[in-house]
Amino acid sequence: MKCPFCNQENTRVIDSRPVPDNNSIRRRRQCDECGKRFTTYEKIETIPLTVIKKDQSREQYERRKIQDGITRACYKRPVSVERIESLMDEIETEVFN
Ligand SMILES: [Zn+2]
Repeated sequence: MKCPFCNQENTRVIDSRPVPDNNSIRRRRQCDECGKRFTTYEKIETIPLTVIKKDQSREQYERRKIQDGITRACYKRPVSVERIESLMDEIETEVFN
């Protein structure tokens, strides 16, 4: 997997653990070139989910949209990225169940 900071291909997994919902695996990776760390998630591909909006229009569910909204809501508040990620996992587990 490419490093998101310097685009080099040489990254390795330094930690790997199941997310509490057991539907995904969280991996911490480190870039061999720049030494920076990042997180990846491996998850089961789910059935496409449709969201019905207030105006009754429909669009495909996208995790990123909800996550962006939460991130905006938490702007300048002491909420870590990890906390938002774990909240997203809880929300998705509930919705997909
Ligand atoms: Zn790098």
